[in-house]
Amino acid sequence: MTSLLAPGPSSPRTSPPDRSGLARAWRPRSKELNENICIEQSATLHRALAALDASGIGIAVVVDPEGAVTRTVTDGDLRRMILKGAKLEDLVNTLPPQPPVTVPQGTSRTDALSVMDAHHINHLPVVDDANRLVELFDRKSLSKRIFLSPPHLGTLEREFVEEAFTSNWIAPIGPNVDAFEREMCDKIGVKAAAALSSGSAALHLAMRLLNVGAGDRVFCSSLTFVASASPITYQNAEPVFIDSDPDSWNMSPRALERALHDARAEGRPPKAIVVVNLYGQSADMDPIIELAQHYDVPIIEDAAESLGGKYKGRSSGTFGTLGVFSFNGNKIITTSGGGMLVSDDSDLIARARFLSTQAREPAAHYEHKEIGYNYRMSNILAGVGRGQLKVLQERVDARRALFETYAKELSDIPGLTWMPEPDWSYSNRWLTTCTFDPNASHVEVAALVKSLADDFIEARPIWKPLHMQPVFQGCTYYQHDNTSVSEVLFNRGMCLPSGSNMSEEEISRIIDKIKLVAG
Ligand SMILES: *Cc1c(COP(=O)(O)O)cnc(C)c1O
Repeated sequence: MTSLLAPGPSSPRTSPPDRSGLARAWRPRSKELNENICIEQSATLHRALAALDASGIGIAVVVDPEGAVTRTVTDGDLRRMILKGAKLEDLVNTLPPQPPVTVPQGTSRTDALSVMDAHHINHLPVVDDANRLVELFDRKSLSKRIFLSPPHLGTLEREFVEEAFTSNWIAPIGPNVDAFEREMCDKIGVKAAAALSSGSAALHLAMRLLNVGAGDRVFCSSLTFVASASPITYQNAEPVFIDSDPDSWNMSPRALERALHDARAEGRPPKAIVVVNLYGQSADMDPIIELAQHYDVPIIEDAAESLGGKYKGRSSGTFGTLGVFSFNGNKIITTSGGGMLVSDDSDLIARARFLSTQAREPAAHYEHKEIGYNYRMSNILAGVGRGQLKVLQERVDARRALFETYAKELSDIPGLTWMPEPDWSYSNRWLTTCTFDPNASHVEVAALVKSLADDFIEARPIWKPLHMQPVFQGCTYYQHDNTSVSEVLFNRGMCLPSGSNMSEEEISRIIDKIKLVAG
């Protein structure tokens, strides 16, 4: 909670220090390294001290005329020299020789940390084949993790939360909850919304509202997070999984049609269809809606990942009888944990509010005619949500821009293909996602994910399709055609770090690593 409410990282860059007298002949990859850290053997101790002062990190790297690292020099080394009588005009190469501890380019951050531990040092030069400095690792920044999709707060969340504190409106239900629901309706263009404790709770309520019960069938996209299907089982119903379409990675209308046809033939039509909008991209709703109407089955649109995305210009999540959003910590906007159930049917949403507050009848003595849940969102978290909703478009823009950067910088990686975005789609690019063609690429996704993890970069394989999950063993599955598209995507696909608050340096770190391993 503290870190969630902490202000975002925005420390200003310091201006470049005076670098007179520092090595110039040779330029390492980063200009900053050359200017602030490298000194020539022929430099004086005075210059070395100036370099240490300029870099502010207490260490400089001595290089020979070819730029090869010969040693490191610290404040302590210079202090000892001067105490022994050395003059500031003496040359750096009068320092007692000391073979430097270095690691080759491409050493993982995990391994570099082990080397630092073994030598009790806090800085470690990374060198190329010619022993030239390419990077200087320091312990603190080395272990900085890059997360897949971390929270990114704006500036207003605190005010809304503070308002709740000031007015002592801490209990669930309150002005922030009402306002968050209204603002969400306005934002996406839907009649009614109920703010809930999670996207999973919203999905579960959707099942209840559509009277999904024991023995019923519910169709569900296979390529998704388990939470899309868990509520089907909460209701003791049976999930039937539908494959993906290669054009959108979302529910294949072709597979859906066969499934609906078979279900009718068996006299067991599904009670609902859970259509998932994966990684921020809408499913191809028109043919899906047409089929659902033809077979008279309601749609629950699982838009947990696609808030801010659009299908043919209309907001993702507004196409089903019910739509579900999630504000979990990793989603495009977050309330730390939370969800929203939306619909154009205000009666359904009113009933959702009733069920989400323990199905309490309007009587002072707590009258109950049916079983409900404790699923409502708290007024505090709704305050966070109101602030987040105000920056939603900025977050979408940032994630789309990040995707463009990845696509541009990694265009030469053999066998790499990005998740497609059909004409009708405007994806929020919640996660930048790609596949590697095993015939063209020399890396396996699992190996690449591991290499990135060794450098404290969190990447993930694509969701494991639910029909392949042990817990859903034996469930019926309809594949797209002769190919099971979701299985192919699972075997080849991965998600790259996609936070909207990554620094350029972090983005370069990821891109460089991928080029190194998969290039
Ligand atoms: C995150 C997610 C959910 C669940 O939302 P929670 O708020 O975490 O309960 C459901 N479906 C999909 C596709 C998701 O990505």
